[in-house]
Amino acid sequence: MDGAIVRTTLALISPGILFVFGIAFVCAWLIERKRSYLLVLASACGLFALGAISQILGWPSGAGPNAIVSGALYTSAVLAAVEGILLRSGTRLGLRMDAAILIGFTLLLAYFFYVDRNLLARVYIQNFGYGIILLIAAVRLSPLADGRYVDRVLFWVLLAFALHFFPRTLLTIGLSAPADKAAFANSMFWQSLQLSLAVLGAGLALAILAAAVADVIDDLRRERDVDPLTGVLNRRGFEERASAYLRKSGKGTTSLVLCDVDHFKSINDTHGHDVGDSVLREVGRVLRKSARKGDIVGRLGGEEFAVFLPDTNAEEAYECSERLRIAIEETSFAALKGAGLLTASFGVGTFKPGEAWSSLYKRVDARLYEAKRTGRNRTIADEFSSLKVDGGRPVLDDTAR
Ligand code: GH3
Ligand code: MG
Ligand code: MG
Repeated sequence: MDGAIVRTTLALISPGILFVFGIAFVCAWLIERKRSYLLVLASACGLFALGAISQILGWPSGAGPNAIVSGALYTSAVLAAVEGILLRSGTRLGLRMDAAILIGFTLLLAYFFYVDRNLLARVYIQNFGYGIILLIAAVRLSPLADGRYVDRVLFWVLLAFALHFFPRTLLTIGLSAPADKAAFANSMFWQSLQLSLAVLGAGLALAILAAAVADVIDDLRRERDVDPLTGVLNRRGFEERASAYLRKSGKGTTSLVLCDVDHFKSINDTHGHDVGDSVLREVGRVLRKSARKGDIVGRLGGEEFAVFLPDTNAEEAYECSERLRIAIEETSFAALKGAGLLTASFGVGTFKPGEAWSSLYKRVDARLYEAKRTGRNRTIADEFSSLKVDGGRPVLDDTAR
């Protein structure tokens, strides 16, 4: 009798742990309600705990109803866990697929109880079935394996959780099921199932919670570093990314472009501030689209933008700046409804040996000012061999075209 109580208590540990994680998911959702996948995961924990309790405490009584009810609860728990994890990455199996799997599994369990009574078949259906559903989720989430550290951990824990169903079941139950209920409760299969679900289930829940925390931190960082109007980096984000690059890769041949929209005040005055905002949004989009992969685009304030060009010499930087200038000049800004062209002026500079960031910035800003002073809609850049310079403004040589 004592042995039975100890066994029941031990068996309640894994649903107890999952129940606690369920509460943790609900608490996390209360803090970040837009992450509805946390609620789905909470329901997965709750359904699993209910399934285990129904099985361990024999509710409903009667072997057949119990096998079917607890089986349906476990299947729902696995489906909710899979949907929750997939939802976090913006994908899902879908309610129809969930319903089909739940009905299919339940019918199979009923068949192997009432028609062809076979405990071994029921064990294999549940364990291999759940392993396969989790494997499908892991395959769908395989891009996470190249993601952030927390995403990689989540992917591998999910994969291990999915795979473990196969060897554990084969090794612990083999080809013959225990003869009666008491033998089943004492079997190696049942005990290792409890242990593996407690350890791997808790590991998976922890990995998801860590990923959720990382998502929140990333969102906060994005809010801190991205300009909400244009979607490019704000001054803080721009300077942080640029200095992170310089710390990691050194200055080498690195260039900076500063850009200021021409006569922007008159756009606000003529068309209103909202139109001005739309124009700024469009300028941000054009700069992002026209910059190369790896270039860092930011809005430093007002109608002034900057593009940090890693691994770019003076000549290439000039070409980049001209490409950006022409892209703006050639864009027909929807908000301006064809009311004239929009142009911008550009200053460009490349790090000199030992030059500080602030000195480069000042130099480039002075060039931008020069571009304004000498007529706007132009780039003023460092001199370089294949360019002639006309009044401080490099002019493409015929041979350099
Ligand atoms: P210049 O060709 O010499 O650069 O002339 P400008 O009119 O572009 O320059 P100025 O610095 O005189 O005016 C910039 C204007 O940008 C003034 C300010 O009201 C406007 N501005 C700054 N931030 C925003 C913003 O977020 N939205 C809008 N719509 N306007 C802004
Ligand atoms: Mg301006
Ligand atoms: Mg300005």
